[in-house]
Amino acid sequence: MARYTGPSCKICRREGEKLFLKGSRCYTAKCAMENRDFRPGEHGRRRHRSSDYAVQLREKQKVRAVYGIMEKQFRNYFKKADRSKGVTGEILLQLLERRLDNVVLRMGFATSRKHARQIVNHGNVTVNGHRVDISSYTINAEDEIKINYNKEALKKLKKELEVFEDRDVPDWITVDKKNNIGIINRLPQREDIPFSVEEQLIVELYSK
Ligand code: SF4
Repeated sequence: MARYTGPSCKICRREGEKLFLKGSRCYTAKCAMENRDFRPGEHGRRRHRSSDYAVQLREKQKVRAVYGIMEKQFRNYFKKADRSKGVTGEILLQLLERRLDNVVLRMGFATSRKHARQIVNHGNVTVNGHRVDISSYTINAEDEIKINYNKEALKKLKKELEVFEDRDVPDWITVDKKNNIGIINRLPQREDIPFSVEEQLIVELYSK
């Protein structure tokens, strides 16, 4: 599956905020937003006025970057949200939040979304007892997600995760760290989205 392979920090700088795309590095002074907090490129330091379209586009690109999704797949999520009953923007965010790679990250078993995707793609995750190696798999309420690492790999993983020890698990998931299991208590709602986003701008962009 196609994926973005360019520099992650450039995306944060372009969007003007920390999007936490690089795991532990994002929590250190090495974060590019700490010392190069301006847009990339020759004219990055210049002030500029954005059109409505540019603002909508940037919001969409930000959400795409956060969830690590290419344009075609993102548009498919939008179409699905648009066809569903309810507020399109909120359903879009809910669908993205329900992706299996995102759930592994929120459970606290990965340092970044790329890492979570690797855990899933390598076949280390089961959903309700069945191995699922598709990171876009959509979880449902009451699903049981289990990380099946061998002891040695888990030990290494736990060491890597030490820096995230105080990261909160959202209350729509209950995590049993001892057994590496997460139970989905309920589907995530709009207030559970842990970063700032104006989803209405994305709806406006795609409704043109
Ligand atoms: Fe973004 Fe900083 Fe992480 Fe780079 S290190 S991805 S700039 S938050």
